[in-house]
Amino acid sequence: MRILVTNDDGILSTGITTLARRLSSLGQVTVVAPDRERSAVGHALTLHSPLRADEIRPGFIAVDGTPTDCVHLGIHGLLDTRPDLVVSGINKGGNLGDDITYSGTVSAALEATLMGVPAFAVSLVGESFREEDFAGAADFAARLAAVVAKNKFPPDTFFNVNVPAGVQRGVRMTKQGKRIYEDIVTEKKDPRGRKYYWIGGGELGFHDTEGTDFHAVHAGYISITPLHLDLTNYRSFQTLSGWGLENIQTEKFEEGTE
Ligand code: MN
Repeated sequence: MRILVTNDDGILSTGITTLARRLSSLGQVTVVAPDRERSAVGHALTLHSPLRADEIRPGFIAVDGTPTDCVHLGIHGLLDTRPDLVVSGINKGGNLGDDITYSGTVSAALEATLMGVPAFAVSLVGESFREEDFAGAADFAARLAAVVAKNKFPPDTFFNVNVPAGVQRGVRMTKQGKRIYEDIVTEKKDPRGRKYYWIGGGELGFHDTEGTDFHAVHAGYISITPLHLDLTNYRSFQTLSGWGLENIQTEKFEEGTE
């Protein structure tokens, strides 16, 4: 099995080195990852500047781009053959609920799925991040990779995996939970008296709903959320049909068309 490993914490992070080492027991691992931390860049793709790739040590290629760039280059240029699996992580910090839309870690797995390569993202949830916690998460990732290799994902599907630090109680399949976003912008003044803003920083709340990723992780379970690429809200069609959206006219519509 050929495995492409990436992340958004950068190629020197403990999470990615621990993951790559553990996955190498399953096959040939190549790391293609950002040369520095690129957390919360989401699914950004670099289109207007060149990208450089440096093999900083055998099997470890640092790219001066985003996690999505790394997967894109890995699959379409840097690896001799197409990988059988892409694993993104181990992220230092959880990727739960709505937060995944910002996540570079999750977006890297999403990119692989777009390219037709099976993928999952792994994040470590906790307050302190000890080496043994990364090792535990890497071990679970390797066991999951073996299961993924034996099966076939439903179309356009990948996993978002969150591992609570410490001792876990088991594994739960979950749905994406909901964050409570409030008071997340701090306004301050710089030494020259000019205002600046800082996004995030504090602890954010979440809806502790049964069956969600948040609920599972906070109860001490490893959470596996199957995600897919189709963002269509199928349940909304019925409500929105009353809005008359398809009857909105513009001046440009051709005469006689509806
Ligand atoms: Mn990160």
